[in-house]
Amino acid sequence: MEKELIKLRPEDEKKIKKIIEEKEEILVAFPYGKEAFDKSWSNQPVTFNHLIITNKRVIILKKEWFQGEGEMQDFPFEVISAVELRDQVMGSTLLIRTETESGNYEWTFKNSPKKEGETATAFLKKMMGKALCPRCFKPIKAEFLFCPYCKSRLKNTCPFCGQSLESDWVICPYCGGKGQNIGKEV
Ligand SMILES: [Zn+2]
Ligand SMILES: [Zn+2]
Repeated sequence: MEKELIKLRPEDEKKIKKIIEEKEEILVAFPYGKEAFDKSWSNQPVTFNHLIITNKRVIILKKEWFQGEGEMQDFPFEVISAVELRDQVMGSTLLIRTETESGNYEWTFKNSPKKEGETATAFLKKMMGKALCPRCFKPIKAEFLFCPYCKSRLKNTCPFCGQSLESDWVICPYCGGKGQNIGKEV
């Protein structure tokens, strides 16, 4: 991904680096909202709301977050059900719909820069609904026992009956086999 798609002031980038994991990479990042679009954001002493898209997740950082207040919001590509980019007089509006157990939500990023918005949309459309390997962030399927890219074990199998187990299970639901950390990764 081109470096120019990352629109971050160096001081903001430094703060964001602290929440980025090892092997996680920022692909697209930009300030959004009318305020950010009106002013030349890079020369301002204040920070604006930011949308960050990495190879692992979508991160939303409100301007308060940069001042040490307010929570970071993020979600994986797995929960994305729709992505849309609408043209506006000032930039574009990026819409991301998510579906989780706690409900559906539509995230709206108004006044997003056009080129970055287009790149983000194309990437998210490709990745939406996909689960990623927790180690290398490449797409995997729910039934995989191993990651085909980095060889990480994704699930354990029951030592008694051989069925695949989720990592937070404490008993095998197929045969009733128990053991310490039965579903844990080894
Ligand atoms: Zn992997
Ligand atoms: Zn079993």
